[in-house]
Amino acid sequence: MEPVIVIGAGLAGSEAAWQLARRGIPVTLREMKPQKMTPAHHSPSFGELVCSNSLRSDQLENAVGLLKEELRRCGSLIMACADAHRVEAGGALAVDRHAFSEAITEKIRSHPKITVVEGEVTDLPAEGQVIVASGPLTSDPLAEAIARRYPQNGYLHFFDAAAPLVTFDSVDMESAWFASRYDRGTPDYINCPMTEEEYQSFWEALTTAQEAEVHGFEDAGVFEGCMPVEVMARRGRDTLCYGPLKPVGLKDPKTGREPSAVVQLRKDNAQGTIYNIVGFQTHLKWPEQKRVFSMIPALRNAEYVRYGVMHRNTFLDSPRLLNRYFRVRTEPRIRFAGQVTGVEGYVESTASGCLAALELARELEGKSPIDFPRETAMGALALYISDPSVVNFQPMNVNFGLIPPLGYRVKGKRNKNAELSKRALEALGQLDLE
Ligand SMILES: Cc1cc2nc3c(=O)[nH]c(=O)nc-3n(C[C@H](O)[C@H](O)[C@H](O)COP(=O)(O)OP(=O)(O)OC[C@H]3O[C@@H](n4cnc5c(N)ncnc54)[C@H](O)[C@@H]3O)c2cc1C
Repeated sequence: MEPVIVIGAGLAGSEAAWQLARRGIPVTLREMKPQKMTPAHHSPSFGELVCSNSLRSDQLENAVGLLKEELRRCGSLIMACADAHRVEAGGALAVDRHAFSEAITEKIRSHPKITVVEGEVTDLPAEGQVIVASGPLTSDPLAEAIARRYPQNGYLHFFDAAAPLVTFDSVDMESAWFASRYDRGTPDYINCPMTEEEYQSFWEALTTAQEAEVHGFEDAGVFEGCMPVEVMARRGRDTLCYGPLKPVGLKDPKTGREPSAVVQLRKDNAQGTIYNIVGFQTHLKWPEQKRVFSMIPALRNAEYVRYGVMHRNTFLDSPRLLNRYFRVRTEPRIRFAGQVTGVEGYVESTASGCLAALELARELEGKSPIDFPRETAMGALALYISDPSVVNFQPMNVNFGLIPPLGYRVKGKRNKNAELSKRALEALGQLDLE
């Protein structure tokens, strides 16, 4: 059998290669790292997390928690590596990013059915079965080749930002404390409080600080889920206090009261030596990040392992290009997977890689496709990105709004979501996933 060509060993590409290989299908996995790096990738490892180390909620009352569970039941490599390298983060699944990527790399490189070929792909392969999973930062020559090939569905874009990382040793723990909101679960977050006056000065500095140049950037082009902290701050003096700096449920043990604002830090590696500043995606100039963030008392001497950065994020007009199997309607041997299809987020990208590969494997095995029903999170995502009635297509995180309602009343949102998840997992159980 001719190997399937998978382009990109990110979350979607690694998952797709794994799903094919575990069914005995040979794969050539083409990855340009380490010869060429995107502006957001820094490591030679596969499945690199470009920003946060959190894969978000791991609870079934949350749609992304459901998506994770569906992936586990599909034998996902990414989920297995995430579960094996989790760091404590309350109800979320956060991982030690280095150990996580190294585990993925090891599994992929040692699989007898997968051949890794390093180097940039500059055009779509002329023949064979192909899954393009080159991500939101697909290199320019390949992006141009895709745009030329599918001129009506070429790239749309927005901007994404990444948050800075600081060393634990440099956080002033005299001015901070460990806790999770409402003291639920283990005390996993470092909470950095600010008084009313401290917050006021911080907010003024943040909204007037110098931003790095990003050509063509304007607020309208920012994905809401990854909005730079300075852009959010400019929406109003208290906006941050209802967002990432929300003090609710965080009583400072020194005062016994909720502070005016609280910046939270989340563990970024298993050793707990590095923390990320939650919600502080930014594209301020680096010296400005140091100056403004040092106004947070616990971060006054913070040492930055990595500053926040902002990047262009590209995706296809998938509703007009792809079908529910992530397959190009007019050229079925080509499939796309990952963020480039307009699914948004680490877990969603993984899910699309999983689904595209599952469907391709079935075709190569002479079986009919599996129609993941809309009741499942995976099916709902696939149907969203391939729905031609969607106009002004925008990337989407998985959410219960994509899944049909229950059709009967359940009291309380958590209970209702739990019921939706139960129904989804029952529906998934009916599918032949092997
Ligand atoms: C700056 C930024 C921050 C983000 N932050 C978050 C976040 O905090 N949380 C979240 O859930 N999502 C985040 N996302 C969105 C998204 O979930 C991630 O980008 C995710 O990594 C997408 O997975 P992927 O597999 O589609 O692409 P990637 O993980 O980016 O993998 C694509 C791979 O393809 C390779 N490649 C690219 N072009 C070529 C080529 N021509 N030839 C060969 N190889 C190529 C790349 O080197 C890379 O290894 C962020 C995106 C960006 C851009």
